[in-house]
Amino acid sequence: MSHKLRAAVVGATGYVGQRFVSLLADHPWFELTMAVASPNSAGKSYAEAVRGRWRIDVSIPEAAKTLLVHTVDELALKADQVDLIFCAVDMPKEEIKLLEERLARTETPVISNNSANRLVNDVPMIIPEINADHSRLIDSQRKRLGTTSGFIACKPNCSIQSYVPALDPLRRFGIEKVMVSTYQAISGAGKTFADWPEMEGNLIPFIGGEEEKSELEPLKIWGEIVGGQITHAAEPIISAQCYRVAVQEGHTASVAVSFKQKPSREEILDAWRSYVGEARKLSLPSAPEPFLFYIEEDNRPQPALDAMRENGMGITIGRLREDKILDWKFTCLSHNTLRGAAGGAILMAELLTKQGYVKKKENS
Ligand code: NAP
Repeated sequence: MSHKLRAAVVGATGYVGQRFVSLLADHPWFELTMAVASPNSAGKSYAEAVRGRWRIDVSIPEAAKTLLVHTVDELALKADQVDLIFCAVDMPKEEIKLLEERLARTETPVISNNSANRLVNDVPMIIPEINADHSRLIDSQRKRLGTTSGFIACKPNCSIQSYVPALDPLRRFGIEKVMVSTYQAISGAGKTFADWPEMEGNLIPFIGGEEEKSELEPLKIWGEIVGGQITHAAEPIISAQCYRVAVQEGHTASVAVSFKQKPSREEILDAWRSYVGEARKLSLPSAPEPFLFYIEEDNRPQPALDAMRENGMGITIGRLREDKILDWKFTCLSHNTLRGAAGGAILMAELLTKQGYVKKKENS
């Protein structure tokens, strides 16, 4: 019998779901045992359900091809057969909120890519390198849900993962203000150029809800737990503008920042170079080494050249220079469907497993 934890992926046929399926194929701790999607895909084999709409740049794993696709109702009935659930679905927000709570109440940990539960005060939203200790919220959340093992933990919005990691080690200098513009890949909308040809050679200066998330979610990541609930950090003030650009994979962020005590260039570079997050300290299988990589060339980072750094889990930073309005400015890049979605969620599940929140069910 496999010692791996049995994982279901809800939304397995979607863009992020396909990333989950491919990353779980060779995972040392987790094994994909159930694929779940909408009633349109249910009842088909996974290979049949994704025929003509496999959108990522690696092949469908052999073991996944023959899995039968289930509905959410079937997963809820068979929840004793899985140890954790990854969730990345395209549904109305209120429905996703209820769906994730329903699945958590089956006493199964739900690792979510969706935004529906991210700002709930007892739901941890974790970047494992930065706020691994926020998993303590799970204890109070379980009381609210009436569960002993089930809970929801969320991965933050994909766009903030390019600049929050770069800002985090600079917090020691007292970050006051952040102006950030993000240039986001079309895969962030679950699309390729084949299904969104209007994006070729184009830019759209609006992504619904994204600027609000980009300004607010970092304050939860940097927040503190008080009485079993998260209290958001009061600083810095963040102003975000989010653009959709003609890039397939990789979200870029242009950042300008002011500090209470302006650090020198060498202090900033040193803070980035010496940053070792909790994920690496715990030797989690998907943790990149290094987490933050500063690239000297003036024309980098570029999505085509740098998004796949450290298997798409590393953050590339470049173009550090003084700013005439705020103190410093620089450019950051992360892979949005790996670090920003499925890879980041799997890293969080590894963390929660190491911390004892995700376990094999006794019946297995
Ligand atoms: P997508 O490609 O449109 O895939 C949506 C998935 O949801 C499909 O598997 C679909 O199944 C499934 N689904 C729809 N209705 C369902 C239902 N009633 N029951 C069960 N499954 C259902 O979307 P995506 O880009 O992967 O995004 C999924 C989620 O991840 C969204 O919340 C998104 O905001 C979030 N996210 C995306 C990214 C990114 O870079 N793309 C990054 C971070 C977070 P069928 O194939 O059967 O229709």
